[in-house]
Amino acid sequence: MKRIGAHVSIAGGVQNAPVNAREIGARAFAMFTRNQRQWHSAALTADSVEAFRNNCAESGFLPQHILPHDSYLINLGHPEPDKLQKSREAFITEMQRTETLGLVMLNFHPGSHLNLVSEDESLRLIAESVNLALETTRGVSAVIENTAGQGSNLGFRFDQIARIIGRVEDNSRVGVCLDTCHLFASGYDIRTPVAFDAMLEEFDRTIGLRYLKGMHLNDAKQPLGSRVDRHACIGKGMIGMEAFAYIMRHPSLEEIPLILETPDADGWKEEIRMLYGFAEQ
Ligand SMILES: [Zn+2]
Ligand SMILES: [Zn+2]
Repeated sequence: MKRIGAHVSIAGGVQNAPVNAREIGARAFAMFTRNQRQWHSAALTADSVEAFRNNCAESGFLPQHILPHDSYLINLGHPEPDKLQKSREAFITEMQRTETLGLVMLNFHPGSHLNLVSEDESLRLIAESVNLALETTRGVSAVIENTAGQGSNLGFRFDQIARIIGRVEDNSRVGVCLDTCHLFASGYDIRTPVAFDAMLEEFDRTIGLRYLKGMHLNDAKQPLGSRVDRHACIGKGMIGMEAFAYIMRHPSLEEIPLILETPDADGWKEEIRMLYGFAEQ
């Protein structure tokens, strides 16, 4: 079964995320584990955790269908030691919140070298950050999202992601989330079935298909290889509908969260309905 969802709001508490997901007909969802614009948040209360678990169970959301996303403030490859430390502490807190919620994955953007150190040095820091986070938590995998390659963001080429994974000590607890907009912006053409399969084959060769734990489904406002991260609604951008219809029929993408981060939250219900329609064709 295909599991489409969206990055839903946690306004009023994390327990509202599964309720919001259910309302739009989702079979998966993403969420922040806390207010993502601040470095610090109050700890999750026992009531909130219990309500979250109950709401997930009532709507049939299993941990492997839920892909929380970390704060955009975090840079696990930060070249400056004090700022790296701050990012690592925040990431560990988010991994712990994920564990407390009974979830099994935390999605993160690898990090940026900020033109202060080499690409490889920053990738090494990212892997070390992941190792530290895995040591202090249990049962949660760190899921690396490919990026559009905007600015000095790393993780826009598969070999960069492979170099992080290669340095992670417990590779049973690391995975990858592929964002379609970021793929396209970073130069991977996915517009036709042939192009999409060539991308997935390269992913398998460079990283390994077994690491693919989820996808973000977004069309792209900017052309192929733009290195600009601007999401468009499904079928309304430069990638086009054919790619998303193909994803919905693709046998390698069953049972993993396929998450919309498209700009119009009011349109998610309709986008989800449309995507499920492709799966039935
Ligand atoms: Zn994304
Ligand atoms: Zn993006």
